[in-house]
Amino acid sequence: MAKRDYYEVLGVSRTASADEIKKSYRRLAMKHHPDRNKDDSSAEGKFKEAKEAYEVLSNAEKRSTYDRFGHDGLSAQQGGGQGFGAEGFGDIFGDVFGDIFGGGGRQRSAQVFRGADLGYELRLDLEKAVRGDSVTIEVPTQVACETCDGSGAKKGTDPVTCSTCGGAGQVRMQQGFFSIQQTCPACKGAGTTIGDPCDDCHGRGRIRKTKTLSVKVPAGVDDGDRIRLSGEGEAGRNGGPPGDLYVEIRVNPHKLFTREGANLACEVPISIGKATLGGEVELPTLNGNVSLKVPAGTQSGKTFRLRGKGVVTVRDSRTGDLFAKVLVETPVNLTSEQKDLLSKFEESVQEGGEKHSPRAGGWLDTVKRFFDRIS
Ligand SMILES: [Zn+2]
Ligand SMILES: [Zn+2]
Repeated sequence: MAKRDYYEVLGVSRTASADEIKKSYRRLAMKHHPDRNKDDSSAEGKFKEAKEAYEVLSNAEKRSTYDRFGHDGLSAQQGGGQGFGAEGFGDIFGDVFGDIFGGGGRQRSAQVFRGADLGYELRLDLEKAVRGDSVTIEVPTQVACETCDGSGAKKGTDPVTCSTCGGAGQVRMQQGFFSIQQTCPACKGAGTTIGDPCDDCHGRGRIRKTKTLSVKVPAGVDDGDRIRLSGEGEAGRNGGPPGDLYVEIRVNPHKLFTREGANLACEVPISIGKATLGGEVELPTLNGNVSLKVPAGTQSGKTFRLRGKGVVTVRDSRTGDLFAKVLVETPVNLTSEQKDLLSKFEESVQEGGEKHSPRAGGWLDTVKRFFDRIS
């Protein structure tokens, strides 16, 4: 198959500058790149054609040979039919795409690895979460080996440059059509290998250790809040910075209170007498008891709101409220005398009918309507 003229392929004049040639090629390569033209089988051919043209025209020596002798001049020069196969494709990325994709990737220096972040679950009672606390925790982690200062090499020796990647930490792998950059398998990206490993850390540069840390828990933290201790995660590798430690707050269930943001809720049992006649009930809060006035005729399940008796959250300075739900208790273990009194009381209430039973009245009506409907 006759080859097209290289200038024609790139759409430039025979006097085009190196810059024009590069620009044009870049545009064509982007356009016909097989990755972006998965459904167009002709794209690969166009891509290769443009690449071949560019390789010749971007090289001053090859360009002048081509200008004088055409395609034949080039194949003669190359001998052995060493054409423009796929093996050279990777270089496009370095040469032309490097600056597009922010590359310059080939000269990448060895990688440093930030240490892993760690999580720690801190269980707290509600009171401590609300008031704040200072807690000592023990965290199993990886710290830099003191014997070798984290290098992993035996004292008096140094890590040596990796022979596989030449210290770059990255190697180029041919993958069919493309060459891709990968972390060097020999040094795991460090760029160096340990000839004589440190006895204490066996070349890893880090050792397991349980760290003891003091955590200041700010007042108002809630279940699920996280406190970040910067730099208290695992030690980095190859000179990398340490990770962070995230202390996650878990608030233990409380016997009296449940918390919803800044608000607290609790249940308060009261006697039938107090609910009926009204009176004062001692109510617990996180700051001691307060007195709650219960009006006469209070029904079971009624919730009272006590403003400002909730908690201050860690995020804002507003104080929440306390919601106290009263539950009227049925008396148990009555003496026969008490039972007598209650029977008399019950008879008297029955005589009064619905006016003593605000709920039952409405309830009976509803029941009646329900049965009327289904019968
Ligand atoms: Zn390497
Ligand atoms: Zn060591």
